[in-house]
Amino acid sequence: MNDMTVTTNSGIVDLIVTGGDLLTMDEQRRIILNGAVAIAGGKIVAVDTAEAIRLAFPASPELDATDCVVTPGFVNTHQHITGDPLARSCAPDDMPPGASIFEWAVPLNDAHGPDDDGLAATLTLVDSLLNGVTTVIEAGTIGHLAPVAAAARQIGIRAGLGVWGWDIEYGPFTAPTAETLARQAATLDVLPTGGLVEGWVTLVGHDLASDALLTGAAELSRSRGVRMTMHISPTSNDVDAYLKRTGVRPLVHLQRLGVLGSHLLLAHAVWLDDEEVDLVTSTGTSIAYCPWAYLHHGQGVARMGKHMDMHRAGVAVGLGCDAPNANDGVDILDAARLAVGIAKDATIDPTCCSAYDGLEMATIGGATAAGLEHRTGSLTIGKAADLVIHDATAPQWRPRGNPVQQLIWAAQGRTVRDVLVAGRRVVCDGRCTTVDEDDLSRQAARRQVAVLSRARLTIPQRWPVIDGRMTGRVPAGTES
Ligand SMILES: [Zn+2]
Repeated sequence: MNDMTVTTNSGIVDLIVTGGDLLTMDEQRRIILNGAVAIAGGKIVAVDTAEAIRLAFPASPELDATDCVVTPGFVNTHQHITGDPLARSCAPDDMPPGASIFEWAVPLNDAHGPDDDGLAATLTLVDSLLNGVTTVIEAGTIGHLAPVAAAARQIGIRAGLGVWGWDIEYGPFTAPTAETLARQAATLDVLPTGGLVEGWVTLVGHDLASDALLTGAAELSRSRGVRMTMHISPTSNDVDAYLKRTGVRPLVHLQRLGVLGSHLLLAHAVWLDDEEVDLVTSTGTSIAYCPWAYLHHGQGVARMGKHMDMHRAGVAVGLGCDAPNANDGVDILDAARLAVGIAKDATIDPTCCSAYDGLEMATIGGATAAGLEHRTGSLTIGKAADLVIHDATAPQWRPRGNPVQQLIWAAQGRTVRDVLVAGRRVVCDGRCTTVDEDDLSRQAARRQVAVLSRARLTIPQRWPVIDGRMTGRVPAGTES
């Protein structure tokens, strides 16, 4: 036994995951071939070679991960889990700027009842787990918190949740400043820090908050010791709006208000100038980077984005998948692959970064950005047992090469076999163990029809669709 292992009184732990190649993402970024992780009380109590772990914890229950790659659970730092998941891939992907929000996302949110929010969240969170994502930070657009929190708990995923926070004139769940802040505080009361599902202070952000709301939210976040998130500058719109309203760029204004700091996770931050990047660095502000959203909407990330530079300079940059109106997938490794590719292409320099940077962003980088680096993001003694077992007998892993590169460039989330969150096995052989997936599919199909109808939306089709499902037509050549 060595310093990678701690003893328990009995020498028996709840579970040992043995035989896989571990990408630990610990401080030294050790990769342990034929390694093992020992789990007790939902936490990691040892990380070592399989032989050492079996010796230390004989007779412990064993989960065989032979021919597998084992990673920490992935962290999605920006995901809308209600509103449009029930209308996934329904909005056209070639609408003008803003149309997907105001013609689709807003009416859909307006049409959602509590049950719809719970079902939409279930769909998103189950899909996340199946892609190895064990932590999801909701982007702050939940209308009905209780059913969403209940869904997250039932599914068994780690989540940060928050409700709509804006004090503009019109929009789903808008309210005056004081009422908006009271609703944010109430979220923190019902979802206290320390559990699997925690409350966050969540503003819509952009230029859709008064200065009083911005400062009040930051004060609430700091005083309660919880995290805060908001959207800023995915395009030049916020820059133009802040320059017009305040005379300075968005992050300069936020800094003057005292909003920036280590409590804050800014979503997007694509259109920053050098002064704003310096403010991110000097204040310890974190970033949630959602590369697929900017490509989907054509927002200029390859020209303007400085996320890889910020990551390599030590800023906590996590990855996000945003919303179905901006990205239909929730595979954070797919976002990692894209983040690396965009940086190489934008700089015309393949040496600027690698798959290693992408995996850092998807794991410990995301955990740090979410303020959870002491609890998840790496296979380290004392952290929660959030881990993913990837089936390396799948075609994407044939033949085996550098495991970091193969995970990011070839496999992404497609070879996830098992997932543990806080030691609980929530995915087994590619199926979620905590919900009935067949029933979930049936419910989603049924509820999609109802929600689209209430929102007065229909799924547009560009090409002719011939509906052969219920025509009752006699097939050609069989008439008598
Ligand atoms: Zn968003």
